[in-house]
Amino acid sequence: MKRLEHLFKQNQEWAENIKADNPDFFTNLAAQQTPEYLWIGCSDSRVPANQLTGLLPGDIFVHRNVANLVVHTDVNSLSVLQYAVDVLQVKHVIVCGHYGCGGILAAMRGETSGLIDNWLLNVQDVYDKYQSQVDAIEDDGARADYMCEINVAEQVTNLCKTSIIRDAWGRGQQVAVHGWIYSISDGLLRDLDLCIEKSTEVAGIHQTACDLAKPYLNK
Ligand SMILES: [Zn+2]
Repeated sequence: MKRLEHLFKQNQEWAENIKADNPDFFTNLAAQQTPEYLWIGCSDSRVPANQLTGLLPGDIFVHRNVANLVVHTDVNSLSVLQYAVDVLQVKHVIVCGHYGCGGILAAMRGETSGLIDNWLLNVQDVYDKYQSQVDAIEDDGARADYMCEINVAEQVTNLCKTSIIRDAWGRGQQVAVHGWIYSISDGLLRDLDLCIEKSTEVAGIHQTACDLAKPYLNK
């Protein structure tokens, strides 16, 4: 128990299974990584990027934090983004939120948990920006679901505003920023129709985020 032996045992089995299909898998992977995707998702243990997309090691570059936020002063996420776009030349940057996100719910309820309250002020900012749309939804669950969706929209906007994405587009590099949401209750991803491929499309994100409220208004 002290050394978590079961995790090492499972790791050995996992590596054996992959090698059974492709004996050179790890040898080839050790030479280089050429992922096409950067995933920015929530740290929630129920939202594992590789498993839910069916991707193998080497296929997807991953950054996760609580509530899948892209904060312009966060050197960690910006460094991941810069390396992925400039060096790895990923073609797609995906922000994936999820319904029932504890970070979003805590921010909406004004719960206090310590240091993380400051991080979640970024979610509070999302609410402040879309307050009239959020408050127009009567059902608590629907309101929370909508908040999870517009939080993704805001992070897509934040990504597109970074010098990293703007410079990439400016030099003609093809990189698309996508906004997705994942449902823990059925294991399915949903595209929020937020696929931004050039700077002129960024202004439209706000309206898309407002329109996402429509299905919730009569609930
Ligand atoms: Zn979450």
